[in-house]
Amino acid sequence: MTITAPHVPAGNAPLANALEQLRSAAEALEIDAGSVQLLAQARREISVGVPLRRDDDTVEVFRGYRVQHNFTRGPAKGGVRFSPSVDLDEVRALAMWMTWKCALVDLPYGGAKGGVAIDPRRYSDAEIERVTRRYTSEILPVIGPDRDIPAPDVGTDERTMAWMMDTFSVSHGFTVQSVVTGKPIALGGSLGRATSTSRGVALVTLAALDRRGITPTAATAAVQGFGKVGRHAARLLAEAGVCVRAVSDQYGAVIASNGLDVESLCDHVDAHGTVVGFPGADPLDAEDLLRLDVEVLVPAAVEGAIHAENVEGIRAAIIVEGANGPVTTAADVVLAARGVLVVPDILANAGGVIVSYFEWVQAKQTYRWSLDTVESRLRDRMLTAWAAVTAEQTRRGGTLREAAMRIAVERVLDAHRNRGLYP
Ligand code: GLU
Repeated sequence: MTITAPHVPAGNAPLANALEQLRSAAEALEIDAGSVQLLAQARREISVGVPLRRDDDTVEVFRGYRVQHNFTRGPAKGGVRFSPSVDLDEVRALAMWMTWKCALVDLPYGGAKGGVAIDPRRYSDAEIERVTRRYTSEILPVIGPDRDIPAPDVGTDERTMAWMMDTFSVSHGFTVQSVVTGKPIALGGSLGRATSTSRGVALVTLAALDRRGITPTAATAAVQGFGKVGRHAARLLAEAGVCVRAVSDQYGAVIASNGLDVESLCDHVDAHGTVVGFPGADPLDAEDLLRLDVEVLVPAAVEGAIHAENVEGIRAAIIVEGANGPVTTAADVVLAARGVLVVPDILANAGGVIVSYFEWVQAKQTYRWSLDTVESRLRDRMLTAWAAVTAEQTRRGGTLREAAMRIAVERVLDAHRNRGLYP
């Protein structure tokens, strides 16, 4: 079966991996070629120029995107990324993964993603605010609580969401809290949203360890990335008794063979902006972190971290994809052959969008849930999805990713079949 899409890149680009995952699921599900074409292409794509008046009064123009891959099951949903690597193909891949993720954990959403090709570290807060507001105003016609609901992703945070929500609200003349998720609590953000992705990662890591017959206290882990996902994942795994030996960020890595004191490490990162130089650990080459002899490896940085060239060095028994697309298709094949258990991104990091959904529901209800309610409902959703994926794997074989993709693609296709094709 071949895939027809506006652009099918070669090699290990995220879009190539996303399309290959779809192709493989479609083959297993014996989906007709027309339906595959429907799922391989984004429903709607918007590319916008984002001019910025800099603090020194010069003007710079960035490229921004919003891709709505699918909204057959409900409004499109997905983050906004501020990163120099952002381009249309990357956003297309990330939007497609959101569709499968939302379907897998059974949220009434389709998938979307957005981004601006900018390195936020090189601009002042005031400049980032202006970029955010201009980008929001450029994509205004396609977003909204029932159309497409942005959220944070790499390089964006709750402050970005506050500006997006304010820009949308001001232009409509009234406050619309449910247009974005991942907002500050003061603006209708949900309790538990900030740690939700990591909480989901920790839950499935413990489930995966259990499946392999390893108790948490007998397990060691390494976490790549110490941002929104990696930081709390490391903390929650340590809380569960796992020995977190090493973590990395974009500046370097640190290791403590007997386990890092993750709480103190968090204090160090708050004070210095990096894990590097943490007094309670030794320095480590960031690439060496991937080669550590640990039970669990959590790639929680960006896509493509584990690829054909470095996969042979991986020694972990379990890989839990905190990031989106951290394992390329080529690496996936090698890991599967070696029996490494890879918990796929669309399951492992779904905790974020699950609590985004709870935040959106709370905004629509104008009624705030307690932290206990949020966390127990998150747990239910994650463990239900875990059980569905492992049952599907037992039933029809393949890797956890293949099983997860079969469930997700089937659900999206089912929605298409029920709605029918217009006209
Ligand atoms: N950016 C996160 C993800 O990739 C969260 C998306 C959301 O909450 O809409 O899943």
